[in-house]
Amino acid sequence: MSTPSTTDTATGGARLPLRRGLEGLTPYGAPQLDVPVLLNVNENPYPPSEAVVAEIADAVAKAAHGLNRYPDRDFPELRAELAEYLQVESGVALGAEQIWAANGSNEVMLHVLQAFGGPDRSVLSFAPTYSMYPEYARDTLTEWVAGRREEDFTLDVDHVRAQIAEHRPAVILLASPNNPTGTALPLDTIEAVCDAAAGAGPSGSDGAPTDAVVVVDEAYGEFRREGVASALTLLDRYPHLAVSRTMSKAFGMAGLRLGYLAATTQLVDHLRVVRLPYHLSAVTQAAALAALRHRAELMSQVASLRAERDALVTWLRGRGLTVADSDANFVLFGLFDDRHEVWNGLLERGVLIREVGPEGWLRVSVGTPQETAAFRAALEEVLGR
Ligand SMILES: *Cc1c(COP(=O)(O)O)cnc(C)c1O
Repeated sequence: MSTPSTTDTATGGARLPLRRGLEGLTPYGAPQLDVPVLLNVNENPYPPSEAVVAEIADAVAKAAHGLNRYPDRDFPELRAELAEYLQVESGVALGAEQIWAANGSNEVMLHVLQAFGGPDRSVLSFAPTYSMYPEYARDTLTEWVAGRREEDFTLDVDHVRAQIAEHRPAVILLASPNNPTGTALPLDTIEAVCDAAAGAGPSGSDGAPTDAVVVVDEAYGEFRREGVASALTLLDRYPHLAVSRTMSKAFGMAGLRLGYLAATTQLVDHLRVVRLPYHLSAVTQAAALAALRHRAELMSQVASLRAERDALVTWLRGRGLTVADSDANFVLFGLFDDRHEVWNGLLERGVLIREVGPEGWLRVSVGTPQETAAFRAALEEVLGR
């Protein structure tokens, strides 16, 4: 038998000094399976048009001529365009220096915890929520504290106040619309959290209490229903508030890796300290700018995805299922005694959804009308109704 000519043999492992707390851990991520209908990671099902693809390719080609140079570290043009986009989307006027961006809002959130978290500090959130949050905490040596959401996935403000008073967190993460539940928080809840967070953070270097940073993660913000306000409208009242967004979901650019955040210039300047130099490549900057120029076209599917989502909620409820209200491009539904069996039955019929959230629930992303129809047909078969 021949031995493969690689240094990575099973027996050749060194005793590597893996950091405490990482022992036995595997990389996080939803299973990536090759099936016809992918409704598991809340992507926008519509790929960019040929015209948008051509424009992105052209912008990247232009940027390629300068790839011998490092990119602009502060990317003022991209930040200005993102500010402009937020103004159009939510009516809130922001300066370019109030915007920060990174490779996905996952990296933006990591910057937040690198700047404000760390040893002897905690980050507070409320479960069930986005499963990446505890990982940012772990990776920045910040203590992870999970309070609870109510049965309907809202927040009990008294519980929030008690958690803040007990833990004096440096950062409070609120996903709204929340993943995996799809539910948005009312603006008055976010206001109450911001009020409670003021002066309730850990003590600063002078010993005086700081204001805990409240991050509202609006990754799904563009899918919110009529009348649901964005936390961007609170930015001018709370200097310790930050609102994060991403081009991964409504924008249909998950593969681009571009997330961003809006806050005060002061808060953004703290994030600039911890970013790696040149973290946003010239290629990413060029592609993101080209995509933003076509935002009207890229976003044109948002209205139909919202309508498709509302119809899906109604259809599921019509089957006697319990469905969380959704302001996102996915729907949490149940309750199943054996959700794995339902998930697996769908998979056998070529439909991949996500087994996530509290016991008994499943999450399905809103796809094209054809994909959603395939999901409905498969679910009817699996449930026999
Ligand atoms: C998908 C998602 C994000 C976006 O992550 P990116 O890194 O921007 O792709 C952020 N927060 C939540 C809650 C999400 O579900």
